[in-house]
Amino acid sequence: MFENKDTSKTPIAQLGEFGLIDHLAKNFEISSKTTVKGIGDDAAVLAPEKGKQLVVTTDMLVEGVHFDLSYMPLKHLGYKAVMVNLSDVYAMNATAQQITVSIAVSNRFPVEAMEELYSGIQTAAALYKVDVVGGDTTSSTSGLVISITAIGTATPEKIAYRTGAKENDLLVVTGDLGAAYLGLQVLEREKQVYKVNPNSQPDLEKYTYLIERQLKPEARKDIGGLLAELEVQPTSMIDISDGLSSEIIHICKSSAVGCNLYEDKIPLDPQVISACEEFNLDSTTIALSGGEDYELLFTVSTEDFPKIKANPNLTVIGHITKESEGMHLITRANTKIPLIARGWNAMEESE
Ligand code: ADP
Ligand code: MG
Repeated sequence: MFENKDTSKTPIAQLGEFGLIDHLAKNFEISSKTTVKGIGDDAAVLAPEKGKQLVVTTDMLVEGVHFDLSYMPLKHLGYKAVMVNLSDVYAMNATAQQITVSIAVSNRFPVEAMEELYSGIQTAAALYKVDVVGGDTTSSTSGLVISITAIGTATPEKIAYRTGAKENDLLVVTGDLGAAYLGLQVLEREKQVYKVNPNSQPDLEKYTYLIERQLKPEARKDIGGLLAELEVQPTSMIDISDGLSSEIIHICKSSAVGCNLYEDKIPLDPQVISACEEFNLDSTTIALSGGEDYELLFTVSTEDFPKIKANPNLTVIGHITKESEGMHLITRANTKIPLIARGWNAMEESE
């Protein structure tokens, strides 16, 4: 796949680096009033709004490490690469405004493949209302690398750091967890089946949500606005890229606090529960360690509980304790197990 042997496809060399940039960049229009100059000069020019701070974040995706093009269509990859970055901006409780996109690409990819990638980037940028204001294009010897930088803004008092969680605060998560990891398991399995029997027609109907969560994740742009509407300022916040347990640990360590997380409160989609049964996996382990859900995890003061408790987007999954109490999962069987970065440590039951 993606060997450019198809003579109907255009080799990148035919356009050259500058031709490729012009070709890919021609569709990007500027819409944010904070963008003064986008693509086309030595640097983009941005106009910071009065009273706001800037948040800047970068994520790099490497073929063979972060994605596999045998089941990840390039359009989806472009879309996901943008989401991964916007998610970090939203995790600061900020508004995303611009992105830059850098790619390293080998001659294995025709121009049409880059068009696909950019159509995903463009779709995401338009939907999330961010301007693509620049980037860099270079060659690579074999694989594809995409690095995106996202820029956002927020007033200083809105920005939510990892360091602000306080004892007794509630631990809150958006959406549901574990689906993206299971989507990957389904796709990996289909890839193996396809290798053995290329004519097999997989029935993926019952996994649609899982696959969508893996191939087309959506960053939680809505949560900043929702919290503002509810008049809730999170005391700390992080996005869930690596799995719930490692993100909780990041918040607890940064804030010098402990936590109790309740297994029975972790929100799971019915497809997650049924796929876990089928794959013989423990759904709590998947939610804790799966990763790539791009939901938000945050803490709020207990006074804010009435404002969030009825919201279908938000689930209280635990609370913050003193640092000396440690970080624990309280299981359905009411045992207390230390949380570790990959799930929890079943070997070290305490109490
Ligand atoms: P320079 O030589 O100054 O780095 P380039 O020729 O690399 O300039 O880039 C020219 C313009 O195109 C710049 O505005 C740059 O940000 C933009 N650009 C380059 N590569 C990309 C890309 N892959 N995606 C979007 N914009 C790009
Ligand atoms: Mg350049």
